[in-house]
Amino acid sequence: MGNYTQKVLTKTLSPFIYYSGIHNLTKPFFGGRGHILMMHRVVFPTKKMRIHNHLSLEITPEHLESIIKFFFKKGYDFISLDLLTDWISNNRKTDRRFVAFTFDDGYKDNLEYAFPILKKHKVPFTIYITNSFPENKAILWWYLLEDLLINVQSLQYHFPSGMVDVKCYNYSQKERAFNIIRNHLMQLNHDNIGNELDKFFSTYGLQVSNYTSELCLSWDDINTLVADPLFSIGSHTLNHHNLPNLSDKQAFAEIHESKVIIEDKMKGTVKHFCYPLGKFGKREMDIVKKCNFLTATTTQTGNLSLNQSIDFHSLPRIQVNSLTTEKVLKLQINGFYPALLYLLPVNQ
Ligand SMILES: [Zn+2]
Repeated sequence: MGNYTQKVLTKTLSPFIYYSGIHNLTKPFFGGRGHILMMHRVVFPTKKMRIHNHLSLEITPEHLESIIKFFFKKGYDFISLDLLTDWISNNRKTDRRFVAFTFDDGYKDNLEYAFPILKKHKVPFTIYITNSFPENKAILWWYLLEDLLINVQSLQYHFPSGMVDVKCYNYSQKERAFNIIRNHLMQLNHDNIGNELDKFFSTYGLQVSNYTSELCLSWDDINTLVADPLFSIGSHTLNHHNLPNLSDKQAFAEIHESKVIIEDKMKGTVKHFCYPLGKFGKREMDIVKKCNFLTATTTQTGNLSLNQSIDFHSLPRIQVNSLTTEKVLKLQINGFYPALLYLLPVNQ
């Protein structure tokens, strides 16, 4: 299902689907007793123009609290990923239900805005750290590009076919330009991408390093979180590359070194992994197992049914974003969306 279809379904049709009760039919097959929630950023709304893609990365602090209350009301156990395997083997025969909260990438707002709410409600959570974030080496091109497109009417971008003048006078042109450049960036070999992007954005007066220091957790921030027993840390590779595009050696280094460096910085063990961009295959799963990660999560939409065997190195999750209303969440946990994706298995 493409992004557009998903947005239409989520925004427009979910109330109708919900009231039709059809999701109760999918519950026995695609629903589950457990859910791992996937979030990225927790931020206050802003009045500035936004390019659409980012709404899938952000929720407000109020929204986060409403999600916690939703699961509290339903009597869920809130568990950490550290306890996931034990919890599942101990509760297979009961009807207890669980939810685990995860945040990807390592954004500073996770500490500033999410952490106080999670602490208030005693909710365990995991943040998957991309090492380049606290190392101050990440290039948050998706936010740089958004700000650039908002502020210019056209720009020059170097595609493989040559330099192209990209028009971005109005909102739909800006969104189209974002998606075209994004698609190009996702295909690139990453060896030189840093310098190229640095040069590209600085031509338009944007400082790459300002975005990194403002938006990413530092090692000190991470150590503040590590001191709290509710927090468990996960690895999200060194540089957030599309792993299947890398050589064996590079893929191993991205996964293994990330773990080793975080463990050294926090003086503990990193037990959890998350595949960047949800991209992985057998090779990546084998590396993750070899590096002794206890769990690995994906971006595949799904619930955990305790009646079936669970592969702890390719765990599905439920994405929580700005469109995740209570009705949408019910459709997710009752398996309606996972069923739809099973029946229409196109580009999740
Ligand atoms: Zn990520």
